[in-house]
Amino acid sequence: PAPGDVLIPAPSDAQVLFDGKDLAQWCRKDGSPAAWTVENGDMVVKAKSGNIQTKRNFGDCQLHIEWCTPENVSDTGQLRSNSGVFMQGRYEVQILDNYGNETYANGQAGSIYKQYAPLVNATKAPGQWNVYHIIYTAPRFNADGSLLSAAQITVLQNGVLVQNNTTINPARLVRNACSSRPHGDAPIMLQDHGNAVRFRNIWIREL
Ligand code: MG
Repeated sequence: PAPGDVLIPAPSDAQVLFDGKDLAQWCRKDGSPAAWTVENGDMVVKAKSGNIQTKRNFGDCQLHIEWCTPENVSDTGQLRSNSGVFMQGRYEVQILDNYGNETYANGQAGSIYKQYAPLVNATKAPGQWNVYHIIYTAPRFNADGSLLSAAQITVLQNGVLVQNNTTINPARLVRNACSSRPHGDAPIMLQDHGNAVRFRNIWIREL
C-alpha cells in the first residue's frame, strides 16, 4: 500500500477471499488453478489467462473489493483497463479506468454492465486504489423456473453511492442470454479483459 493508504480490514465474521498472499480461494471456470499474478501483495490480471472465480458459491452478500488500474494508459474507451466483478458469475459491476476516459453510459466503472449507468463517475486517477462496497441480493425463482424476484444491487465506489438498490432486470440482460435462467448460489467472478488491473483486500459476508 502507498503511504496514507488505509486498508479497511475484514470484519471478524467475513470470509477473506484475498489478503495479499495467494490465490487459494480462486480458480478458473474449469476448476484449474487461477493463473493471475500475485505481486507486492496485489492480485494482478494476467492477460489471456482467463477469468478467475471463487471456489465457493455465494448468493446474498456484502462484498468488499479494491482495484487499481495501470498508471500508464494508452487505449481509450472500453479498452482502457477493463475488468469487472461478476455477481453469481453473471451480473457484472464494471471495472474500467474512467478517469478522463469517455465511454457509453452503461459501460462506465460502477455500471451494471450494459444495463444501468452509475449515478456518478467516482473513479480515481489511474494508479490510485478504488474501493467497491457491494451489497447484493440474489434473484429468486419459482419452482417452474420463472422469476419470483430479480437481483438487487447497491454499490458504493470510494464511499460514493453509484448504484442505489438497483433492480437487475433479466429481460435487459442482452449480453448473457443465460443470465435470465434460474440459478442458485454461484461464484464471484473477476474478468480478464486483457488489462493488468490490480486487486487487493477482498472479503465477503454472506447475508
Ligand atoms: Mg468489464
